[in-house]
Amino acid sequence: MSKNQILEEILAEVDKHPEIMSRREALKYISVSPLAASILAGATVGTTAVTASDAVGKIVIVGGGLAGMSTAARLANTLSNPDITVIEPDPLSVSYQPGQTLVGAGLWEQSEIVYNRDDKLPSGVKLIKGSVTAFDPENNKVTVDGKEEVSYDQMVIATGLMLNYGAIKGLDGVITSSGADNAIVKEKVGKDGLHSIYFADGAAATWTGIQELIEKAKNHTGPEKLQAVFTDPNTPIKCGGAPKKIMYLTHSRLEEAGVRDKVELTFYPNGGKMFGVPEYHDAILQQFKDRDFKWNYKHNLIEVDTATKTAVFNKHWEEKGAFDKDLEEYAIVKMSERVEVKYDFIHVTPPMKAPDVVANSAVGSDKGWVPVKKETLQHVKYPNVWSLGDVAAVPMGKTGGSVRKQYKVLIDNMIATMEGKTELPAAYGGYTVCPLITSIGTVMLAEFDWSKKPTPSFPLDPTKERWIWWLLKVYALKPMTIHGMLTGRA
Ligand SMILES: Cc1cc2nc3c(=O)[nH]c(=O)nc-3n(C[C@H](O)[C@H](O)[C@H](O)COP(=O)(O)OP(=O)(O)OC[C@H]3O[C@@H](n4cnc5c(N)ncnc54)[C@H](O)[C@@H]3O)c2cc1C
Repeated sequence: MSKNQILEEILAEVDKHPEIMSRREALKYISVSPLAASILAGATVGTTAVTASDAVGKIVIVGGGLAGMSTAARLANTLSNPDITVIEPDPLSVSYQPGQTLVGAGLWEQSEIVYNRDDKLPSGVKLIKGSVTAFDPENNKVTVDGKEEVSYDQMVIATGLMLNYGAIKGLDGVITSSGADNAIVKEKVGKDGLHSIYFADGAAATWTGIQELIEKAKNHTGPEKLQAVFTDPNTPIKCGGAPKKIMYLTHSRLEEAGVRDKVELTFYPNGGKMFGVPEYHDAILQQFKDRDFKWNYKHNLIEVDTATKTAVFNKHWEEKGAFDKDLEEYAIVKMSERVEVKYDFIHVTPPMKAPDVVANSAVGSDKGWVPVKKETLQHVKYPNVWSLGDVAAVPMGKTGGSVRKQYKVLIDNMIATMEGKTELPAAYGGYTVCPLITSIGTVMLAEFDWSKKPTPSFPLDPTKERWIWWLLKVYALKPMTIHGMLTGRA
């Protein structure tokens, strides 16, 4: 794709929502933004250097989502004799998950984020339409759908993670990817005021739920405000910003409808702060105060009664226990209590876990996630096994932005191994990015790495909410992902 085609695609997105930004405004922002310029350059085919290699070997990639397909594409671009197989069951595996937040707020249609896996299969890459049901890393093979054995010289595990709604009492089922069967989950999620943007159908239903809340607020006369509750669980999650983004967007929609004063918006995170990076934590806290949001730290959603619209949280804290004379310190006693909260609208961010087939096999860790050396992405036990994306045991790595850095590192290191080199040349530094949508029209671009310090790519205060990042988030990142990453070039 040429730079002009990418620009035209971005402007076509802008045209769909003239109420948010005109084409003229968008062009103005693009022309003054160094980031937009770099996106256009990075997403243009041929602009990212890939070093050609004659290395040979059979590469099997388990999972053809964002990480798996981007890796397959870049490998196909790099190897002169590629032998690459992707194993993926979901016909919509490459759909654009970051867009689910915008679908949830009624800014995009679900159809705008749906892409067919088969259209995005890189040329020369083989596809097995199925699920890996067993890993046998001692014998370099996997089993597909319980019957077909597939052997490999190098394997990349990119299965993403499971949305574990069933871990919350009162809800049922798990979801493995956007197009996977979600019927059991949808029996309770996506109706009667209980919503979740973490799967595509759930995101579309969330917008209906927000509209229902607005209607209810318009007719609401009592002294008590309606209650909108937003949860954040006690497990690692993909896109740590999404539970807050949907809260900010609900606030925007309520304001737009003139009923914000009728609804209390409360955030219930399991953790004890808004963000792991102190600078972003402080900025978010201020944004919450400015919008009159409420929050209750250390509350983990454990149960929902959909009939009475009651959410039950495990509230937890620590207290000083008995004094240990030998150690000369107080014991720490973990305390908890059950807290019931009535809701009119609740957004549930489900607990997440590694897929069972990974967690219960030799390639998984005790916690489930694939144990890789976090810099090289090579498995800690099996040197011909690699992992990236949401399933990899990499701190703070569960975003598309991390995948964009990881897949290049993984490929450089895997090819070096295939070429018989003993030194792995590339290292992932933990970079990740969270474009935190703070209203319709503003985003705080939180970039950071393992140092837990802001690592802004541009000389602008990263704690400020800006229009320019809205433009990036809403109009530029999708073309960059779909045309850039999925072709292995961005
Ligand atoms: C609501 C939401 C908002 C987000 N917002 C952002 C954002 O603003 N910025 C950002 O950078 N990221 C964001 N993300 C996160 C981003 O989408 C993910 O981090 C990214 O998709 C991870 O890629 P992946 O390939 O690891 O997993 P996925 O893209 O989920 O792909 C995993 C694939 O593996 C397949 N699979 C699973 N098990 C098996 C098996 N046994 N055999 C074969 N295949 C299997 C699945 O079918 C799936 O297709 C968001 C995600 C959500 C849900």
